[in-house]
Amino acid sequence: MLKYKIFSFIVFIVFCGKFAASAGLQRDRRQESARDQDDETREPVKYDGAQLWRIPISNEVERNAVAELETKYDGLKWKTVENRVDIMIDKSARESARSYLQNSNITYRILIDDLQKLIEVENPPKEEIELLQNRKGHRLTWKAYHNFNDIVGYLDYLAKTYPDLCSVQTIGTTHEGRALKLLKISNGHPANEAIWIDGGIHAREWISPAVTTYIINHLVENWEELPSYLKNIDWHILPVLNPDGYDYSQKFNRLWRKNRSRNPGSNCRGVDLNRNYGYMWGGEGTSSNPCSEVYRGKGAFSEPETAAVQNFITSQRKGDYFKAFLTFHSYGQYILYPWGYSKAITPDNNDMKLAGTQAATAIRNGSGATYQVGPAAILLYPAAGGSDDWAKGTMGIKYSFTVELRDTGRYGFILPASYIEQSGQEAFNFVDAMARSVTIL
Ligand SMILES: [Zn+2]
Repeated sequence: MLKYKIFSFIVFIVFCGKFAASAGLQRDRRQESARDQDDETREPVKYDGAQLWRIPISNEVERNAVAELETKYDGLKWKTVENRVDIMIDKSARESARSYLQNSNITYRILIDDLQKLIEVENPPKEEIELLQNRKGHRLTWKAYHNFNDIVGYLDYLAKTYPDLCSVQTIGTTHEGRALKLLKISNGHPANEAIWIDGGIHAREWISPAVTTYIINHLVENWEELPSYLKNIDWHILPVLNPDGYDYSQKFNRLWRKNRSRNPGSNCRGVDLNRNYGYMWGGEGTSSNPCSEVYRGKGAFSEPETAAVQNFITSQRKGDYFKAFLTFHSYGQYILYPWGYSKAITPDNNDMKLAGTQAATAIRNGSGATYQVGPAAILLYPAAGGSDDWAKGTMGIKYSFTVELRDTGRYGFILPASYIEQSGQEAFNFVDAMARSVTIL
């Protein structure tokens, strides 16, 4: 009898192991290309026929359905807000997922019909970009998404061309050896306060480095005409916080989000850098599974990119030198402020709301676009370890904001390059409004 029990127990264990392994395999499929392999031999991931669906999550049935789409239909969540989710479904799972939702009486909307088609026309043709490049001593055009080298080349160009105004500093090195280059724009007045701006923490949000360099260009090229509240600030701008991920998303997988760190004991690579900051690290909205899109890393600031930001800001901080910490993401058109880790409200919530609302008004007056304003955990969902929470919670930088740039879901992450200039202008209007708030209060 005992023998039989042991035998059936072993059978049970083996069965469970197999089942878990096959579910895991399916889940990790998109991480396959993340395995150690020479970049040269790797094929880019194609998204032919993949669709983006918008599903309401206003009740338990709908929330469960989304979880089901993730686990059984290999769905990849793009964006979650308070009452709905955008989720990508591969072509192979489309039909079965559709009938599953139909049987569950859940209505959904198709936002993107064929993802690969969008990816292929996101950037203008190469020849067109070539024509625009190198006209001004650098390669950036703001009419196309550029690679990391073009962006870094632009920063070096600025430091060389405007040595009295611009300087470049390497604040760290990534896992794959790329330099994290920070641009400082400053008139050198000793009484200046500072504003931090970063872009590209999430690899696939290409509009973010594009608008961050747009802001740089706007500040530098119009410097003499700028109002004094913009000139008497030390600007510290890191346009690509996650260059390894950015490069990977351009060459191999358009939807890559994390950095490219190796995770010991796992085939899956990358840490979600916006879950890796030290304030309330490890809390809600994060994962300890290296294959997860929101993997928080093995400890706070375990990643070279986040550690570099921490070291730099800590080293610069004399008194309350940094007045604002602004970080650009996409998509959804939101102006978000702490807390992200919980739905608790900060003591200065009214100041934050006012500054955010004024910035949203400035954007609307410029382009007509609507940006919603509110605390991140309330407007979207709780997520711990974000850079904005750390800037405010640990570093005491009052005006800490996360901006989710365009759009509201028509293109999502695959925003065509023709939107860069308008998005850049919106982002500049946001930064301008923040600089006003900083200098007035
Ligand atoms: Zn993001």
